[in-house]
Amino acid sequence: MAQAQIEQTQTRVQKNKVRAHNLGFPRIGVERELKKSLEAYWRGDEDAQALDTTGSTLRQRHWQLQADKGLDLVPTGDFSYYDQVLDMSTLLGAIPERFGRGEASASGKVDLDLYFRMARGRAPSGEAVEACEMTKWFDTNYHYLVPELTVDQAFQLTATRFFEELDEALEQGVNPKPMLIGPLTWLWIGKVKGENFDKLTLLDRLLPVYREILEKLKSRGISWVQIDEPILVLDLPEPWCEAFNTAYAALAKVKIKCLLATYFGALEDNLELSCELPVAGLHLDAVRGGEEVMEVAERFSDKCSSGQHSSFEKILSVGIVDGRNIWRTDLDAALARLKPLHILLGERLWLAPSCSLLHVPEDVEREVNMDAEVRTWLAFASQKIDEVVALTCALNTSQEAQQGESVSVLTQKLEQQFAQSRAARRSRAVSPLVRRAEVEARIAGIKDSDAERQNPYQQRIKQQQAHLQLPKFPSTTIGSFPQTTEIRSTRRQFKQGKISSEDYIRAMRAEITHAIREQESVGLDVLVHGEAERNDMVGYFGELLEGFLFTQNGWVQSYGSRCVKPPVIVGDVSRPKPMAVDWIRYAQSLTEKPVKGMLTGPVTILNWSFVRDDQPRSQTCQQIALGIRDEVQDLENAGIKVIQIDEAALREGLPLRRKHWQRYLDWAVQSFKLTASGVRDDTQIHTHMCYSEFNDIIESVAAMDADVITIESSRSDMTLLKAFEDFDYPNEIGPGVYDIHSPNVPGENDIIGRMEKAAALIPPERLWVNPDCGLKTRTWDEVKPALANLVRATDQLRARYP
Ligand code: GLN
Ligand code: ZN
Repeated sequence: MAQAQIEQTQTRVQKNKVRAHNLGFPRIGVERELKKSLEAYWRGDEDAQALDTTGSTLRQRHWQLQADKGLDLVPTGDFSYYDQVLDMSTLLGAIPERFGRGEASASGKVDLDLYFRMARGRAPSGEAVEACEMTKWFDTNYHYLVPELTVDQAFQLTATRFFEELDEALEQGVNPKPMLIGPLTWLWIGKVKGENFDKLTLLDRLLPVYREILEKLKSRGISWVQIDEPILVLDLPEPWCEAFNTAYAALAKVKIKCLLATYFGALEDNLELSCELPVAGLHLDAVRGGEEVMEVAERFSDKCSSGQHSSFEKILSVGIVDGRNIWRTDLDAALARLKPLHILLGERLWLAPSCSLLHVPEDVEREVNMDAEVRTWLAFASQKIDEVVALTCALNTSQEAQQGESVSVLTQKLEQQFAQSRAARRSRAVSPLVRRAEVEARIAGIKDSDAERQNPYQQRIKQQQAHLQLPKFPSTTIGSFPQTTEIRSTRRQFKQGKISSEDYIRAMRAEITHAIREQESVGLDVLVHGEAERNDMVGYFGELLEGFLFTQNGWVQSYGSRCVKPPVIVGDVSRPKPMAVDWIRYAQSLTEKPVKGMLTGPVTILNWSFVRDDQPRSQTCQQIALGIRDEVQDLENAGIKVIQIDEAALREGLPLRRKHWQRYLDWAVQSFKLTASGVRDDTQIHTHMCYSEFNDIIESVAAMDADVITIESSRSDMTLLKAFEDFDYPNEIGPGVYDIHSPNVPGENDIIGRMEKAAALIPPERLWVNPDCGLKTRTWDEVKPALANLVRATDQLRARYP
C-alpha cells in the first residue's frame, strides 16, 4: 500500500475509533534508576537537582514509550518520588502538624525533604520525626503512606508537582490524562488521629480542593482526568455510597470529563451506583470483574435510559489486559469478549490494562537469560501496552474492514501480534514445564486424612512435652538472625560462581555455629539455625522447587525505593530434593537443645509470587503444600523435633469482599494442614504470622491446628491477644514481646509487663516467649542484649507463675 493510502486509512481509523489508554506506568525505571537516585539523595551523595533530573528523565521516557506504542491518552500523575497516596495527601495539604504544615502552606510548595520526612521520618535536611504509617494498597504488595485525619482537619491545594509534571507532559507533546486518587478512596484509606470522629464528615471540606484541582486542569485545556475510586469494589457502608453521589455531583460542576476508575475486583452491589454517577466515563477491571462489563455496556448503550445524567453518552473503559499478573494475554479470547461490547458501544468503548501497571515489572525484553520459549509466555508493562493497542487496532480495523476498506499494512502487524499470542498459548499449554503428570496424579490422590494430624492437640501436646522436656514459658526466636554484610556478600559470591560450593558450605556452617553458640550463651530453650542461606523466605524455596521461574530484572515497587522481584510460578510445583534439611541437621548436630526447623508455608509462597492463571490458585497452593510437606517429613526423619511453617502472608491473601473470605480461608487452611500433617504426634509444629489483626480470621487460624503459633503483638501492646482470649484459642501461643522493627533493645521489665498482660488472657502454661518476627534486619549488637533480657524475663516469669 502506498504511503498516502496508509495515512488515509489511519485517519479514517482515527475517526470514531476505540481509544487505548493506560491507568499508570511503573515508575522505578528498567535499571531501577529511581531507586538508585533516591538512595543516593538520602545518603547525601546526590543533590535534589540530580534526583529531579532522574525523575524527569524517567517520566519523559515512560510517556514517550506509551505514546509511541500507540496509546491515545498517556497517564500523568502516576509518577512519584515515594508513593502516589502521599502525593495526593500533600496535594490536598493534608500534612500532619508534626511535619511543619504551616511552612508548607505558607509557601504553597511541599519541599522534597518535608515529603521524605513524611515518608521515612527523616531526610537530608530537617529534624527526624515519626514517619506516617505504611500499609498495603488493597490486596497488592504495594505499600502506601496512610493519610492522617484529624477532627479539625483543613485542606488546601498545596503541592505543585502534580501540575508541573502535567506541564512537562504537555510540553513534550503527548496527550496527557492526569490521574488523581478520588476523594472517597483517599478518605477511606485515611486513619483518624487524636479525637475519634467520622472521617466521612471531612468530605465537605475536601471537595472544594478537588474542584480547584479540576478547574486548574480545565484551564490547561485538559480533556480527560482519571479519578481512581477502587473502593467501589469493596463492601461499602450505606453512607459512603451516598457520599459518592454527593461528591461526584459537586465535582460535575466543573465541566471537565472525568473517567472514574475502579479496579481490583467487580463492582457487584456498587454497580448501579457506579453507573449512575455523573461522570463522563467508567473504567472496569474486566479481568477480575468477570461478566459485569457486559452488564455495564448494556446499561450504557441503553438509549432509553433517561434522567439528567443519563448513562447514554458515557465512555466505558474496559480493563482487558491483566495489570496484576505477568502472563501474555490471549488476544483471540480478549477480542472475542470485546466484540459484543464494541457492537453495543462503538467509539464509546475504550481499552486499557485492568489497573495501573505499577504492580508488574517493566519490560520482559530485558530478560535476556530467560528461556526464549518461556519468555514468549510473559508480558510485562511494556508488552501489556502493546496488547492494549493491538486489541484496540483490531477493533478499529475490523470496523474498517466491514466497510470494505483495505487495511492490509495495519492488519499485517496485527496479525503477527495475534499469531504470537496464539503460538505462546499453544506452547504454554503443551509445555512439559507446565503440566507434569506425576504432580497432577499426586494431587488427585490426596485424601482428607492427609490434612489431619493423627490425634488432637490435647493428646499430641503430652507426647511433645515428654519428647522435648521444655520448661514453662519456653523461649525461642522466629528464625532469622542478623544478615550481616559478610553473609550477603558470601551468598552473592556463591551465586556468581566466585566461590566454590565447599567454601560456601563452610562459610554458612560457620554462621550457623555462631548463631547456635549465641543462642546457647543467652540461654534460649528452642534454637534456630539462623537462615543465613536465605535472602528471601519465599525466593529461597522457590529456587529449589520445580515449577518456579526467576527473572533477572522483574522488579516491582513495594514501597519508596524498595523493590521486590516476585518469583513466577510457571508450572506444576514439586520438590525434587531436600531444601533446608542439611543446614538444619547441621545446626542440630551442634547442640543438645532442640533446633526448630524453619520453612515457609504454601500460602505465603503463593501470595508472594506471580501465580499461573491456567488453574485455580487453590490448586497451585496444594502443589506447593505437597512439596513443603515432603520437606517437613525429611526434617522429622533427620531428627528435628520442632518444625515451624511460616505463614506470614496468609492474611493478606484475603479477598477484598468479605463474602469470598471463607472459601479462601478454607483452602488456605487445608493447604497448611496438608503441609503440616504428615508428622508423628510428638513432632511439634509451629507457625508464625506477623501482623496484628486476628479478630476476623481467628477461627481459621485455630483450624490450622498448629501446636504453637507465634505472632506479632508488642506494637499493639498485646491488645491483639484479646482475639485469642475471646475465641478461647486452644493451642499454644508465643506473643511477640520484642518489637524487632525498632533498633531499641527491650528492657527485662518491658518484656515481663507484656507477658503478664498475655498471661491475664491466656493460660500461662500455654505461653511461649519470643520476638515479634525474624531478626534479620537487626544487628548482633542489638540482638544479643535484647535476647539476654528476654531470657532473664522468662526466668522471672517462671518464678512468678510456678
Ligand atoms: N522465619 C522468618 C524469619 O525469621 C519469618 C519472617 C516473617 O515472618 N516475615 O525471618
Ligand atoms: Zn514475621
